[in-house]
Amino acid sequence: MTNVDLAGWIRHAAELVSADADRLTRLDAAIGDGDHGHNLDRGFRAAVDALPTDDVPPGKVLVAAGRAIVSKTGGASGPLYGTALRRAGKALGDAEDVDAAGFGAALHAALDGVRDLGKAEDGDKTMVDALAPAVAAYDTALADGADLAACVRAAADAAAVGAEATIPMQARKGRASYLGPRSVGHMDPGASSTALLLRALSDTTGS
Ligand code: ADP
Ligand code: MG
Ligand code: MG
Repeated sequence: MTNVDLAGWIRHAAELVSADADRLTRLDAAIGDGDHGHNLDRGFRAAVDALPTDDVPPGKVLVAAGRAIVSKTGGASGPLYGTALRRAGKALGDAEDVDAAGFGAALHAALDGVRDLGKAEDGDKTMVDALAPAVAAYDTALADGADLAACVRAAADAAAVGAEATIPMQARKGRASYLGPRSVGHMDPGASSTALLLRALSDTTGS
């Protein structure tokens, strides 16, 4: 995976987020304040605009995107996604080409970043409930000898399952937690967008 691939991911993610912004906002309207799709759309447009034009290492692409998202995205999700991307980028260091193990380490760094900042536990009905199973599925695929594209596909599939699994959960973090038991029965918007972002990555890495 090169800098071109990761820039392609950010661009494709921006397209999918834009296409799905209304759906994400509807999910957020049910248990939050109805801005998630709009927040992410603004953030990912800013990330695309901030993509380096010179030939920098892949890690720097993610750091630049993350920084733009932190500065341009409102709400809880901006700092969380921005931190995830920045931490992932830092984990990649100055490597010119990222292999499956290296990208797995970056995904772990992203998850650690979200956990450090948001303090959500598994089952709190947040983006962690999509990202944590995605990282676990990636690890399993990697240990089975899968190539990078197959590891990413496993992660994207697990994130989608994880997002669905937030429906019966009661929120214990973020705005949705203010609803208490009334948060049950709706998919968490951030978990859904995490699944979307990993689907974008899987589309980009191909195979
Ligand atoms: P806001 O709630 O500030 O309007 P968004 O609507 O953009 O922000 O994002 C809401 C999403 O952010 C939630 O669906 C949830 O997935 C995620 N989120 C909120 N708080 C946390 C947290 N403490 N840890 C992890 N994720 C969180
Ligand atoms: Mg919101
Ligand atoms: Mg908001």
